[in-house]
Amino acid sequence: MNPVISDQKAEVGLAAVRERIAAACERAGRDVNSVGLVAVSKRKGPDAVRALAEAGLDVFGESRVQEARQKMALCPSGLTWHMIGHIQTNKAGEVVRLFSYVHAVDSLRLLDALDSAAAAAGVSLPVLLEVNVSGEGSKFGFAPEEVPGILEHCTGLMNLDISGLMTIPPFTPDPEEARPHFIRLRELRDGWRAASGFPLDELSMGMSHDFEVAIEEGATWIRLGTILFGERE
Ligand SMILES: *Cc1c(COP(=O)(O)O)cnc(C)c1O
Repeated sequence: MNPVISDQKAEVGLAAVRERIAAACERAGRDVNSVGLVAVSKRKGPDAVRALAEAGLDVFGESRVQEARQKMALCPSGLTWHMIGHIQTNKAGEVVRLFSYVHAVDSLRLLDALDSAAAAAGVSLPVLLEVNVSGEGSKFGFAPEEVPGILEHCTGLMNLDISGLMTIPPFTPDPEEARPHFIRLRELRDGWRAASGFPLDELSMGMSHDFEVAIEEGATWIRLGTILFGERE
């Protein structure tokens, strides 16, 4: 891959990524503005964030609260930060202070903690439910069969905006092998949307090696790290 940062020509690398996003949208008959890009800056420093911000990106993703807190203080203001990783319940308050969007809610306790923290902060927090569509044991996320009950519970959470679903398929070198998992998430969403009354418009799926397939299958958020920032240490 040809990362944006290492060649010091942020616009050029980013332009190539944007072209691939546009081509995937075109293949799927989708509007390019229907796909949001989260630049995943975990384990990268504020200088790398600044370079991509200057190249025009404004949504950044972090997976650890402490790392994000330290980094954000050194990054340009005016950026939007998404929490994309697993969250410990006792960090809910800090997550609400630091982030404006949460991609990977994976327990009922965390939902309740985020709702309370959002209430205390006087905000409505958009969140996505992480679904373990592949059933891999090592993954976080709700099992599909748990989700209808979780959505029922969510009707009582007044400070969360249950915006959609997120998944991380098992890693396979061939991105085509991720496609059935992306299709499954979309089809589960279609069923839950009808049954629950939550629109669940957002699907967060697709990373550096499989984002084009994810876009073809309906991703509204793709989370790209390596392809933008280079390999992580
Ligand atoms: C690290 C991470 C990404 C980015 O992965 P790349 O393969 O580097 O694009 C996306 N989503 C989540 C949840 C991550 O933890």
